[in-house]
Amino acid sequence: MAARKKVLVTGAGGFIGHHLVTYLKHLDYWVRGVDIKEPEYGSTDADEFELLDLRRWDNCLQATREIDDVYALAADMGGMGFISANNALILRNNLLISTHTIEAARVNNAKRYLYTSSACVYPEFKQTDTQVVPLREEDAYPAQPQDAYGWEKLITERLAMHYFQDFGLDTRTVRFHNIFGPLGTWTGGREKAPAAMCRKIAMAKLTGNHEIEIWGDGEQTRSFCYIDDTVIGIHKLMCSDFRDPLNLGQDRMVTINQLADMVADIAEIEIVKKHIPGPMGVRGRNSDNTRLREILKWEPQISLEEGLRHTYMWIEGQVRAKMGLPQQPTTTANGVKPLSVQEQISR
Ligand code: NAD
Repeated sequence: MAARKKVLVTGAGGFIGHHLVTYLKHLDYWVRGVDIKEPEYGSTDADEFELLDLRRWDNCLQATREIDDVYALAADMGGMGFISANNALILRNNLLISTHTIEAARVNNAKRYLYTSSACVYPEFKQTDTQVVPLREEDAYPAQPQDAYGWEKLITERLAMHYFQDFGLDTRTVRFHNIFGPLGTWTGGREKAPAAMCRKIAMAKLTGNHEIEIWGDGEQTRSFCYIDDTVIGIHKLMCSDFRDPLNLGQDRMVTINQLADMVADIAEIEIVKKHIPGPMGVRGRNSDNTRLREILKWEPQISLEEGLRHTYMWIEGQVRAKMGLPQQPTTTANGVKPLSVQEQISR
């Protein structure tokens, strides 16, 4: 019988990494999780979890020992507010993490290496309109990412390509488009738009003050992909033989104002939007999923409404706990049950 594959998930204390560990465990991999911090919401399912700062070379060597495949998710990151205000910190930290982790994987003879890039690599000049043309993978060049976060992602994509060309390390590169779901950062300044919106609307519902602050005019557009689809897509890409960058996201675009209305519907409240100055990122962004469908014979299945419902329910629970309010009698608001891992796998 073949030995069980041993995989490493870096960033396993973070949002996507934590969910990915759970998914890979259900697929019967042996999993080591590594992060600079423990998962914030619930304990890890990893066989082994090590607290390591992956900016350090010796720690990267330790993390990648006796590992077949590496899922490289560790990064210093956050929503627009954090990314636009911390360019030097992000560029330095993420370059150190990325260069040391991939080199350590090579030295330790890892077989496959999946790097998690971002839609933030796409050039600003192709995203100036709310009705943006969906972004194809080749649109990344000529390069002009908006922030240092995107520049680092682009450079590390190239590093992964060269590690295959020069050393034979079998690399994969995924470009996420706005991943959201329960168990992600929802407060503190690093949260992204869907989580921030769920928090604001839960606060509005629970305090009775229905005024919601939105950065800018709220007409900026994005697509959002639910976490359960994301972990399935990551694993499918790792198992494929495709080495070029691949978008992973939904291709349904909504404005931030529409996102707010959708969450308000789920919370069953009327909101008043107050538009305030704030970082908005690019004007419009959407994923072109042509290549995703072609390569993986699959695309994300879970609707924005369904994903937001699960996310809102979880965040409302977090806000209630913080405010010292009782939890809802059931965690299944509006009769929707969270998907079990088995249901996720069979999708
Ligand atoms: P996250 O912030 O929840 O997880 C990243 C994890 O990396 C955190 O737990 C953090 O502690 C860890 N980390 C940071 N510095 C570290 C260090 N020096 N050593 C070890 N661990 C360290 O973010 P996420 O949303 O789970 O993102 C995972 C990956 O996907 C990241 O590479 C991110 O850039 C990428 N990505 C995410 C999105 C998204 O919408 N969530 C979009 C595009 C790309």
